[in-house]
Amino acid sequence: MSEVYKGIFKVEIPLKGNPLKYINIYVIKSEDESLIVDTGFNTEEILELTEDYMKQLNIVPEKSSLYLTHLHSDHTGLVNYFDNLGLKIYMPDVDAKLLKLFRERYGEHWTNIEKYGYMQGLEEDDLKIEDHPGYKFRPREDFNYIPKNPGDILTIGNFNFKIIDLSGHTPGMAGLYDEGKSILFCGDHILGEITPNIQFWGFDVGDSLGTYFKNLEKVKDLNIKHLFSSHRTIIEDVNGRIDELLEHHDHRLRETVEALEKGAETVRDVTKQLQWDISAKNWDEFPKSQKWFAAGEAHAHLEHLRAKGVCNYRYNDGVLHYKLT
Ligand SMILES: [Zn+2]
Repeated sequence: MSEVYKGIFKVEIPLKGNPLKYINIYVIKSEDESLIVDTGFNTEEILELTEDYMKQLNIVPEKSSLYLTHLHSDHTGLVNYFDNLGLKIYMPDVDAKLLKLFRERYGEHWTNIEKYGYMQGLEEDDLKIEDHPGYKFRPREDFNYIPKNPGDILTIGNFNFKIIDLSGHTPGMAGLYDEGKSILFCGDHILGEITPNIQFWGFDVGDSLGTYFKNLEKVKDLNIKHLFSSHRTIIEDVNGRIDELLEHHDHRLRETVEALEKGAETVRDVTKQLQWDISAKNWDEFPKSQKWFAAGEAHAHLEHLRAKGVCNYRYNDGVLHYKLT
């Protein structure tokens, strides 16, 4: 645990077996009030680590609240624990409503994930929802929350946070921005060392990569001095890192076009031709749980190119086939 700014503590919670390695949980303290940002996966081990840091930081449940940046299980897994303790829970509506669909195996959310997998051509990889980390470590019960949406204010002591829209990584991710102190809690919007995963969230959500780019430019305009990201180390040069992320996706978009030029048509075929920063030598060695994320990311790039008029798709037996226009 370390104090990363006067009154802001960072706790690193390990995410065993996951390429993210750990999640940074932040606690903002003002006298006996505390605001916790995100929770970690729903596991016994993380529950114990949570009890430890709560004790160390003297977190009084009745005087504390929890802010959830977005729906992913590494950020929300323990929401029921905090709800049962009586903390006020704040979350942007868009992601909270989606998260409430996580509980049911055959509910709308996981059925959609299977449907997208089929459309992407992943049928032959025989992936199981039961192996999906988002499913394994999800909150199991319903929870109470108070909607905090972009534009709303959340104050604790002399911190005055405005909720800002950082969608792209998920349909409703939102950060906490203190303009006077130039602080931003950005969830998974900007990470050091690794690049945030941008997924296909269905045709209703649309071009999530385009949304992500827009929200990267938005943060660049804020000239943030203290960026508190949810994974890996704290980034010093925020705008420099934003430029690197933009360049990374630019490169990946070029790779996607090249894959289409070489005749790849399905999302799965395109995914196999992209460069992945993972030790697996080929698609067969790719960890099954990571295939969802890789294909979803390739799909987001294809959909961004489609939004730009570069390619289009047709269905063949329920599987999407993309072609350059
Ligand atoms: Zn996330």
